[in-house]
Amino acid sequence: MAGDGERRRYNRGPEKVTQRSSLPFGRTDISSEELEQLIDIEEASTQAEKGGVKNAEEKVEDFISCVPDLLKWLEQRGREYPWRATTDPWKVYLAEILLQRTRGDAVEKIYSDVIKQFPDPEALYKASDEEIRDVVHSLGFVNHRQRTLKEVGRIFTDQYDGEVPDSIDELKKPWRVGDYSARATQLFAREKPMALVDANFARVIGRVFDYEMPQQPHKSKEVYAFLEALTPNDPDIARSFNLAILDLGALVCTPDNPDCESCPISAACQYYRSIRMEGN
Ligand code: SF4
Repeated sequence: MAGDGERRRYNRGPEKVTQRSSLPFGRTDISSEELEQLIDIEEASTQAEKGGVKNAEEKVEDFISCVPDLLKWLEQRGREYPWRATTDPWKVYLAEILLQRTRGDAVEKIYSDVIKQFPDPEALYKASDEEIRDVVHSLGFVNHRQRTLKEVGRIFTDQYDGEVPDSIDELKKPWRVGDYSARATQLFAREKPMALVDANFARVIGRVFDYEMPQQPHKSKEVYAFLEALTPNDPDIARSFNLAILDLGALVCTPDNPDCESCPISAACQYYRSIRMEGN
C-alpha cells in the first residue's frame, strides 16, 4: 500500500531540500471548492463504505466543507516543532525516528543536540553505542532506539552513499522503522502527498466518519486506502491537512473528554452528533 500511495501521486524529480515559504504548516488558506478538486470524493466514499460508513458520500462532502476551518485552526493552534521548519530529509527522518512512541515535547528538548551530534548518516554510523544512548537517553526505549539509529547510520552510509533514500520501502529498511516514519519523511521532506496513519489520526477519522477502525489501523490496507483518497492531492495542502489532523488529535480530539465544543470540524463529526442526540 505504501508503494501504491507513492505511485498514485507525484514524481517530482530531484530532491528538494530548500525551505519553502509555507513552512511550518504548508498552505492553510483554501476554499472547499478548491479542495473538492484535490480530493477523490468518489474513491473516498467507496472506501468509507467498506469501513461501515453510511451515506458515505454525504459525509465525505460534509467533512471537506469543514477542512478550510480545520486548516485555519492549524495556522493558529498548530505546534511549531523545529522538524516542521525544514524539508531536509535527514532532519525530518531523524525526527520521525525519535518521535516513535514519544511525545513531541520530549523530542523537542533533545532534537537540536541530536542534529548537532549526528548531522548526517555517516556521523551516526561512526558514533559508538554509548554516544547514541547518551543523547537519546531521556526519551526511553534506549536500547531499541540505539539499535534503530545505528542501523539507520549503517544502511544509509553503506547502501545510499550517506543520503536518505527516496522510497518508502528503502526508508523502512532499518530495524523497527515502519510505514508512518517513512511516509512522514516522504510527505514532509519530499513533498509527496500521502496519508499518515497513527493513533491520533485513526481516532479523529474514526469519530468524524463513524468508521469502524480495526485494532491496528496503521496496518490496515483499507484504512490507508480510505485516507489516501481523502488526502488532498497537492503537496502543500497534504502537508497542512495531515498536520492539522495530527494536532487536532493531540490537542482537541483527545482519547478521553474530547473538546468538541471548540473543535473546527464538529459540524461534520458523527461522534459529536451522537453525543448531542444523547443529551437531548
Ligand atoms: S467534534 Fe469532538 S469527537 Fe469530533 S473530531 Fe472534534 S473533538 Fe473529535
